[in-house]
Order: sequence, then structure tokens, then C-alpha cells
Amino acid sequence: MLSTAHHADVVIIGAGIAGLSAAHRLISAGVSVSVLEAGPRVGGRMMTDEVDGFLLDHLGPLLNTSYPELSTTPGLDGLVLRNFDPGVLVHSEGRRYRTGETRRHRTGEIRGRRGSRSARGAFKAARALASAPRAPLAGNLTGTMGGAIEQARLGVALARLAATPRDRVLARPERAALDALSGRGLSARTLNGFVRPLLTALLSDPALATSSRCADLALRDYASGRLCVPSGGSATLPELLAAALPPGTVRTGVHVTAADITSVRTKEHGELGCRSLLLATGASAAAELLPGLRVPPFHPVTVLHHTAPAPPPAGASLLLDADHSGPVAHTAVMSEVDPARAPDGRVLISSTVLGARPPDLDRTVRAHLAALYGTPTDDWELLAAHHDPEAVPAMPPPHDPRRPVRLLAGLYVCGDHRDTGSVQGALSSGRRAAGAILTDLGVRAPSGKTAVLPEAA
Ligand SMILES: Cc1cc2nc3c(=O)[nH]c(=O)nc-3n(C[C@H](O)[C@H](O)[C@H](O)COP(=O)(O)OP(=O)(O)OC[C@H]3O[C@@H](n4cnc5c(N)ncnc54)[C@H](O)[C@@H]3O)c2cc1C
Repeated sequence: MLSTAHHADVVIIGAGIAGLSAAHRLISAGVSVSVLEAGPRVGGRMMTDEVDGFLLDHLGPLLNTSYPELSTTPGLDGLVLRNFDPGVLVHSEGRRYRTGETRRHRTGEIRGRRGSRSARGAFKAARALASAPRAPLAGNLTGTMGGAIEQARLGVALARLAATPRDRVLARPERAALDALSGRGLSARTLNGFVRPLLTALLSDPALATSSRCADLALRDYASGRLCVPSGGSATLPELLAAALPPGTVRTGVHVTAADITSVRTKEHGELGCRSLLLATGASAAAELLPGLRVPPFHPVTVLHHTAPAPPPAGASLLLDADHSGPVAHTAVMSEVDPARAPDGRVLISSTVLGARPPDLDRTVRAHLAALYGTPTDDWELLAAHHDPEAVPAMPPPHDPRRPVRLLAGLYVCGDHRDTGSVQGALSSGRRAAGAILTDLGVRAPSGKTAVLPEAA
């Protein structure tokens, strides 16, 4: 039994990346923390299963080396990121094109956070990988999409966005991403053949009904860094965070059934006391514990993993479908991107389907993959398929990417639903919540600065 008296200064409900990132910042400021996780493992949606030596993600995360929180969150120094290289291939009208590279992508130049000790590990790892010899383009590609002028125009538009400060992007007029795209001075071919499928993949939103500000932020991240995945599967990220916490901080298999500012009730261990409570669950679970909290609509996502006798021709690129000719939005030969995810000599192909789970999933996906890769898929074997109806919180306009994390003094909420529906958003919400708690407790952040992030209720 856990102690039913004062259990910790702060009880955090949920050991996803938001709760774990908040725990790090609180503990390094000297606050005692207990993280209670209902599941048997940490990580929440960032889960990886081992099946016959393959490491299979429940999600198909597309991260970016330019996500500021990846380089500044304590505990992530050992994170190794594997880049999609060469970046993005687009399948359109039966052909695969290479497109959407900026000068930064070509030279391997990556933006990192200056001055942060923990920034260096992730930044160096990403830079080392980015400057490694590039994999040759495999298969019969038709070269780049559009002519040189079209490519140059796209490169300039992306470079301009990369140079625009984040706050300026967030001050732009806001509407649905799809409506905003037409005024960007790009040809219909570039928009439909590259920008739309890329944004669809980055936002998990096939209708592109997401706020244009969030879409611009996603494109800005793309233009300033490199698309990547955590080496060894997405669970590596929460596992690194959890491993760097003091032993006993995280308790798995503890399901919280009721919560208020000074105590939580658990299914397994009775009531636990605390001075402050941080709800770090997904949006629906948070609203169950605190009725009245807003629950956004969600983008459902299905991820499928196949193995094949030989790698299909795409190298280590991310292959996007520009034609909506089947259920797959994007796919990659994951064993080429991150060899750690497959046993030696074996091939792993991971593919993402957005929206409702289609009937006859494997058959329709396999047929679509045959068209996308230009190779028969009859002898491919399905290793796993995961469907999450609440994978990514939707962000229709108007969207506030800094929703208040402080509800009352002593009661806080974080998670991707308080920020942007992404790994970056979840980590950022955890940092903001920890800042608000430290401010209310009157504790100074380890940097010596007062942790000032006052939030309106
Ligand atoms: C299929 C899929 C694809 C995605 N693709 C991308 C992508 O390409 N790029 C990107 O950046 N992001 C992507 N995301 C989103 C990203 O994974 C999430 O934004 C992020 O992992 C959310 O972290 P979190 O800590 O906010 O929440 P969660 O990971 O949901 O963590 C919440 C935790 O709270 C626990 N919990 C819930 N209720 C209770 C309770 N009552 N008691 C105790 N514990 C409880 C849960 O078990 C869970 O561990 C994707 C997500 C999915 C599912």
C-alpha cells in the first residue's frame, strides 16, 4: 500500500511525456513528486512493442530536429534521432518525386537551442546523423517535382517561413489551413503535389481544417530542421525521461479514479494526499476526472507494420501520397530510417492511415502500398496494426496553443490538448505546468530565475 497521508508535494496523474517532463522540472527545483500511471508502462501514446525482434510503434510519429523541447527537456540528453534521408518523396500520378528541400536540408544545417546544456546532446546527435553520408535514392525516381523555378520558389517560401519568429507566425490572421494555402504564391502543382500531403502527414489531418497558424508552425518546423524518428522506437523518449527520474518517482499500474487539489483516490491504493495536483492524462481522461474540462475533437490514426522479403525502393525517405489514391497517407521503409527497429537483414515498412479505420484494412493498405512503392506486396506479412480513435487532438481555428495549465492554485492540467497536438506540444505543456506550480509554491527554478509563468484560470 502507498502511504495515505501526505504522499508528495505534487502528484502527477499520467506518465506520458507531458507528465514526465513536468516531473523532471519539479524535481530539479527540489519539489517531491509522485507520478501515478494507470498502464503497465510509461509513455502513454508513445508506446513501442517488441514482436519477433521488430520494434513496432503504436504511433508513426514524425518528429522534427527543430522541435525546441526535444533539445531543452531535461533527461533527453541520450536521445538519438534518425533522419528521413533524403527527406520527402511524393507519389503522384504513378511516379515518385523528390521535393521540398531547403538549403538547410541539403547542407545538413540544423537549428539548435543556444546555451542549454541538455540541448547539446540531442543537437549533436541530430547533427552527426544529418551530416552522415546520404543514402542513395533508390528505385526509379522521376527527379524533382516541377521545374527548377517551381522548386526554387518553394525553397524560398520555406526558407522565409523558417526565418519568421514563432510569435510572428502566431500573430498571423487565422483560418482553416486549406483556405490559407492558396494565398502563398505557390503553383497548384506545388500546393497539391507537396504542401498538402506534407501538412496532412504532419498534422494527421486529411481535411486540413487545422488552424492556419498551427499549420504554419508545422511547416516552419519542417523548414528549419529535419524530419526524424527516435532511434529504437518512440517509447525511447518517455523511457529516457522516466529512467532519469529518482527511483520510485513513477508508479505504474495505479489508476486514479477521483482527484481534487489535496488528494487523489486510486483503484488499487486508496487515497493519497498532496499539496498540488497535476492532471497529465489525455483530454478525455482529464475531463472524466475534472468534469467541465474541454474535450477537443480528435484525429483518429491507424498505423500498420509490414515486413517484406526485400526493401521496396524508397531508401530512408518518407513517402507521401499526393493523389489520395488509397488509405495510406504516408509510409516509410523504417528499417532503412532506423535499423535498430528490425532484426539484422529484415525489412520493416511502417504506414499511416488517417481518419476512420477502413474496412478490410490490410488488403486495401497492401494494394495501395503496391502502387506507392511500385512493387508487388502480396508476399508482405502484416506484423501489427494499431488504431487510436483519439490519437491527435484536432486544432481547428481559433486555436490557442498555450491554453491555461493552471486551473486554480494547487490544481493544474497539461498534455498535448493544452498546447499543440504533438510531441513538441505535450513536452511544452509539461514545462509550462511545472513553471506554474513552482510559481504558486514560491519555489525558484534551478536556473535561479523565479519560475514565472502566471496563467489565468
Ligand atoms: C497514432 C498516433 C500518431 C501520432 N503522430 C504524431 C506525430 O507524427 N508527431 C507528433 O509530434 N505527435 C504525434 N502524435 C501525438 C503524440 O504522440 C502525443 O501528442 C503525445 O504523445 C501526448 O503525450 P501526453 O503526455 O500529452 O499524453 P499521453 O501520452 O496520452 O499520456 C497520458 C497518460 O495518462 C495515463 N492516464 C490516463 N488516465 C489515467 C488515470 N485515471 N490514472 C492514471 N493514469 C492515467 C495514460 O495511461 C497515459 O499514459 C501521435 C499520436 C498517435 C496516437
